[in-house]
Amino acid sequence: MKRGFYIGRFQPYHNGHQSVLEHIAKHVDEIIIGVGSAQLSHNVANPFTSGERVLMITRALSSLDCPFYVIPIEDIQRNALWVAHVRSMTPPFDTCYSSNPLVVQLFKESGVDVQSPAMYERELLSGTEIRRRMLAGEPWKELVPRAVVQVLDEIEGTARLCQIARDD
Ligand code: ATP
Ligand code: MG
Repeated sequence: MKRGFYIGRFQPYHNGHQSVLEHIAKHVDEIIIGVGSAQLSHNVANPFTSGERVLMITRALSSLDCPFYVIPIEDIQRNALWVAHVRSMTPPFDTCYSSNPLVVQLFKESGVDVQSPAMYERELLSGTEIRRRMLAGEPWKELVPRAVVQVLDEIEGTARLCQIARDD
């Protein structure tokens, strides 16, 4: 049983994440998706709760042909211990898929096999760009899976982001 691990903040989950996971699904028997900075929500860089992000990911991957687990992972303020923290929260895995330089470094130091998937349309497909567009009232829905649009509509995600970005 080969399991692959993929972690992000998914604020929000977008088509770049979806493309990477569809790629990983071809190479492993099961996927573990870590929802990082799980404790953060309701701020401009991290508007959505870990539960809302779990919903986005689970619904967007409902027809993925590979079993997956979605596991919230809170930050610890000690990078040197972070991989052990992740491992304590997840099923065992063989390979970490990440292009994030810190994540790559920490897993390599722990002796975990690391693969860095290619970036898909990085200028457009980034959480930062999607949050910017939401705040600016620009189109963003084509950058995320349809299921994520539904979740964000249900939780009134754009209105929340705009509200918490206002000055008092
Ligand atoms: P933010 O701008 O908020 O940091 P992000 O788009 O980088 O959002 P993260 O949740 O930080 O999304 O990323 C999770 C993982 O997905 C990271 O390893 C990141 O490199 C990867 N990733 C993000 N965007 C893409 C993309 N367009 N194509 C492939 N991988 C991506
Ligand atoms: Mg990022």
